[in-house]
Amino acid sequence: MVKSTGKRGMAGGKSKGGEVESRKAAETPRLFDRSSPPAPLSKEGEKGNAAPARSFRPRPPPLKNSVQYVKGVGPRRAEQLARLGIETVEDLLYHIPFRYQDRREIKQICHLQVGDETAVSGQIARMERRFLARRRRWVLEAVVRDETGFLFLLWYHQHRYFQQRYQLGQRVLLYGKVEKGMKGGKWMIHPDMEPLEEDDETARVLPIYNKTTEMTVAAMRRIVHGAVDRYVDQVSNGVPQEICERLHLMPLNRALRQLHVPSLDAEVVELNEATSQAHRAVVFDELFYLQLGMALRRRNTVREEGLSIVPGPLVQQIYGILPFQLTAAQERVVEAIFQDMAAPHPMNRLVQGDVGSGKTIVAFFAALAALDSGYQVAFMAPTELLAEQHYRTLTPLAEQLGLSMTLLTGEIRPKRKQEIYGLLERGEVEIAVGTHALIQEGVRFRHLGLAIVDEQHRFGVMQRAALRKRGANPDILLLTATPIPRTLALTLYGDLDVSALDERPPGRKPITTQVFHEGERKKVYQLVKDQIEQGHQAYVVYPLVEESEKSDLKAATSMAKELAQTFFADYSVGLVHGRMKGNEKDAVMQRFKAGQHHLLVSTTVIEVGIDVPNATVIVIEHAERFGLAQLHQLRGRVGRGQAASLCLLLAQYAPGDESQRRLQVMTETDDGFKIAEADLAFRGPGEFLGTRQSGMPDFRVANIVRDSKLLETARDEALTWLERDPNLTTPESRRLRAVLEDRWVGRLELARVG
Ligand code: ADP
Ligand code: MG
Repeated sequence: MVKSTGKRGMAGGKSKGGEVESRKAAETPRLFDRSSPPAPLSKEGEKGNAAPARSFRPRPPPLKNSVQYVKGVGPRRAEQLARLGIETVEDLLYHIPFRYQDRREIKQICHLQVGDETAVSGQIARMERRFLARRRRWVLEAVVRDETGFLFLLWYHQHRYFQQRYQLGQRVLLYGKVEKGMKGGKWMIHPDMEPLEEDDETARVLPIYNKTTEMTVAAMRRIVHGAVDRYVDQVSNGVPQEICERLHLMPLNRALRQLHVPSLDAEVVELNEATSQAHRAVVFDELFYLQLGMALRRRNTVREEGLSIVPGPLVQQIYGILPFQLTAAQERVVEAIFQDMAAPHPMNRLVQGDVGSGKTIVAFFAALAALDSGYQVAFMAPTELLAEQHYRTLTPLAEQLGLSMTLLTGEIRPKRKQEIYGLLERGEVEIAVGTHALIQEGVRFRHLGLAIVDEQHRFGVMQRAALRKRGANPDILLLTATPIPRTLALTLYGDLDVSALDERPPGRKPITTQVFHEGERKKVYQLVKDQIEQGHQAYVVYPLVEESEKSDLKAATSMAKELAQTFFADYSVGLVHGRMKGNEKDAVMQRFKAGQHHLLVSTTVIEVGIDVPNATVIVIEHAERFGLAQLHQLRGRVGRGQAASLCLLLAQYAPGDESQRRLQVMTETDDGFKIAEADLAFRGPGEFLGTRQSGMPDFRVANIVRDSKLLETARDEALTWLERDPNLTTPESRRLRAVLEDRWVGRLELARVG
């Protein structure tokens, strides 16, 4: 998570002293409860325990000083550090090494084993440039000798640097990985090399830092260590003492010092895995405040005034109309939703449910409760196809209940649109199903009570906010079929109530998933043909990769043509892709649904929600390019009817590749939550969510995959703390408040729902 922008949120207000105050003043109310404005911060609170108590002129606390205050940092260095997101002294202190070298033991050359990563010392016995004819490039070779043997060194770059800096006979300290040479002999390629001084403190664990190219690792280390020496004791402990004691967390300043200057008995393996006690303290500190901030914000939304909605006759009637019984999970979630809606505060609930878990009907129950209380409902879906499908699914139910429902998408003609606007504004339409068209200028509801957002991950925060503005603090119900692992949900949606639909309606047939290598394409086609011959239908999907949208489109288009002319010449092949107009798309989908196409070639437009029970096989091309969560979504297009189904993943991979292992997960489990966990572990949170609108806070040290246990603990501790002191009024809490504002105000907005 070391992004150069990573720290901007924190650093934003602190580089210039004056700015800090005004920023805080402006943003405080969003985070803190309006009914109890934050007590004016005492100087000590604001500045940590290090602030001079008798200072008259407001000066930025030392940790907020520009890095230029640190020894060895001038304007040029400062500018280089800024590119790493390091602007203040504090940023430097949180610039944690990403790796550690164990130099406590300097091995003798004769004891080196191939594969060791270790320190060696010796004398330079030879050093020269050589042209490698086979690889057509120059390399720098050296030989280092100690009393026990010879070690060969090789550099592809930086020849001049090494030749100028080192002479024959000079004593050096090396650190690197031992490789096997071609003719026996041991090699190190691009080892770290330093001149060995007589009194060198070589016996130590050496931290390695991320740095810019202009800087040497040693220079970066010197700068950070300069900051540590001078400032680290001014870092005040963020986490309350009693929690530290309970969890055996070392004080923050000691932890930071250990991370930068590990003691001689440090466990290097733990340091490298970021699981050392020092890491634990720093990570917990970070996560505790995140959770505290989230909890506060959630409480504030919950306290806002909202509508009180109570289920009535419509909800009773629906039970008699539904052709099936709700699953226990559906009952449970509906119950939770009703409770939220009844409270006189806005609901903010996210329902996570695997594909096919029956979210639509759950949402419909919520809609009926709103109608029962005399309000209107908006039901927003991310695509035309999906909006239309919801409209069609719900129409028979709405008709039986005598409800007026309308469809509002971008495809609707302007004249009809104006009509619909009028109906909504006069309250003559009770349910509006639609796309973004629902939140365009001009759309006004008479009394919107509930806004439902399907596949919420497809919408940005702004769009949800816009939807909310259509009413007077309506209840919000978010649906998502991308199950989010709990750790991620706690981080991203710590301020939402989350329910899981963790049970599928009965009678679903299993889906068998198989991975095929590109070379087995014919076999895959044959499997597809078998299904079609049994009267079923098939999808072939080209998942869309953003950067190459056009080429994928081409691939899908030409593939449709090719399949129609060759292997599937006896059948009808349809094509649907994202560039088609809504009505064209719709026509193709309708034909497929009606069984007129046997095979549907598509880009990922079919990803969400499409329901064709007779489709029993799906082929996914280039499966290796996609996240497991997305593959899982696509797979959910089959297995919707009474017949057993197949999901065939066509992929390119080398045996034992990570992509092969990843795809293997798909064959092993059908549980969306397990798949999401695996996906998150493979790809990391940024990619898992898609960085652009992920809303992931930037962490300085924490990593929610690695630190998931600590995250849970941090959440528990934060909630317990707030239970005891809801308004953060005790002296200890006031300090928490100050730290919280300093770190998260402004940043937490990112994760807000609307
Ligand atoms: P998703 O959660 O993927 O949006 P849907 O709401 O589209 O799932 O539901 C998938 C299918 O399951 C629909 O055809 C729906 O009618 C059906 N369904 C929903 N709940 C039940 C249930 N309790 N019993 C049987 N079928 C159900
Ligand atoms: Mg759905």
